Amino acid sequence: MTSFFDRGLETLAPEPLRAHQWARLSQVTHAIHRANPFVTEKWARAGVTAPEDIHGWEDFYRLPFTDKAELNADQAARPPFGTNLTYPLARYVRVHQTSGTSGAPLRWLDTQESWDWWARCWGFVLRGAGLDAEDRVFFPFSFGLFVGFWAGFEGARALGALAIPGGGQDSAQRLAAIEELGATAICSTPSYALRLAEVARARGVDLGKLGVRTMIHAGEPGAGIPAVRARIEEAWGARAFDHAGMTEMGAYGFECAAQAGLHVNESEFIAEIIDLATGAPAPEGELVLSNLGRIGSPLLRYRTGDRVRRATTPCECGRSFLRLEGGILGRVDDMLIVRGVNVFPSAIEGIVRRFSAVDEFMIEVYRRAEMDEVRLLLEIGEGAGHVAAAVQTAVRVDLGIRVEVTPVVAQSLPRYELKARRLVRRDPPATG
Ligand SMILES: [Zn+2]
Repeated sequence: MTSFFDRGLETLAPEPLRAHQWARLSQVTHAIHRANPFVTEKWARAGVTAPEDIHGWEDFYRLPFTDKAELNADQAARPPFGTNLTYPLARYVRVHQTSGTSGAPLRWLDTQESWDWWARCWGFVLRGAGLDAEDRVFFPFSFGLFVGFWAGFEGARALGALAIPGGGQDSAQRLAAIEELGATAICSTPSYALRLAEVARARGVDLGKLGVRTMIHAGEPGAGIPAVRARIEEAWGARAFDHAGMTEMGAYGFECAAQAGLHVNESEFIAEIIDLATGAPAPEGELVLSNLGRIGSPLLRYRTGDRVRRATTPCECGRSFLRLEGGILGRVDDMLIVRGVNVFPSAIEGIVRRFSAVDEFMIEVYRRAEMDEVRLLLEIGEGAGHVAAAVQTAVRVDLGIRVEVTPVVAQSLPRYELKARRLVRRDPPATG
């Protein structure tokens, strides 16, 4: 059963889709050039002095990349909002920031138009997962400065669904609200869905009886990892959909009913995948995005830091949008090199989550002689020694690496409402 937010756009053939993107892109480039100091200076350094210099796609692909370090530096130099602003400050109506999991938080301003655009982008996400006006969508999220699920909340409202805020509550209160208000869908990080399941189990609440049918997850690769998805779906008796977005970019990726990886919303974003070393187009590499509806604080050719792989076959849902196989595979700079083998933490999580006795885990990484060594800390419910050995064997067989596995005391590892930080880099233990 396929549900669309905008069937016409989502099923456009490649040529008309490119034409649609080009028309939108032209609007953006004409609006931001000269008006936006960050863009104007950046383009001038690259020899682009007028929007007319961008005649065709070849010119677009010659525009310089932007990365997060550049944006952080700009905001540090011109606090508090930096110079990537197209309009006078009075035109902006929302300020949010990144979660700050990697470095100083980045602040981002939205105008009324771009905030509506965010909500519209979430329309594709929610409809892709099959939600409609009948749904009651619960957001177990602290509605603070971090943009998190703010735009999702707006998207639910835009869809005509009932949007339920779950801020200012602990996990038990949230479970009670889900039950009392008859929530049918939940938007959270995958980690927090598992955390709620853990709390429910401790309180004797049967999640399968709550009426929640759909889970939408963002903030971590989790819902795209089969073992994590299976665990969430089993705990909640619901289907779990992956979603990807970024504070500074927007809500760009969503899953359809086929649950076959992330579709990139190419009606609102231009996507490129580049080789990490050369910057040339590649089937697998770093995702580079340009947004087409956020003129007040635009980003063109932004290096997301996410590693992705392009799917080569069309999706059975009928969408023509690019599909990323396995969703976000990991952060480009999170890749570990263990005895010469490249490993993403998400691959390790994909194995650990297969073991239902493991409640929580942490990956400790030691750098020794240019090599990463990995120690897995596991909170194991019962049969600790046996399970630890089985996890170690599975990691060796599936990933070809040897890791140390250490059981730890129940409830000793952190739990997460927002982006989990399960990868910890430590100094190597003293030897000799
Ligand atoms: Zn699809």
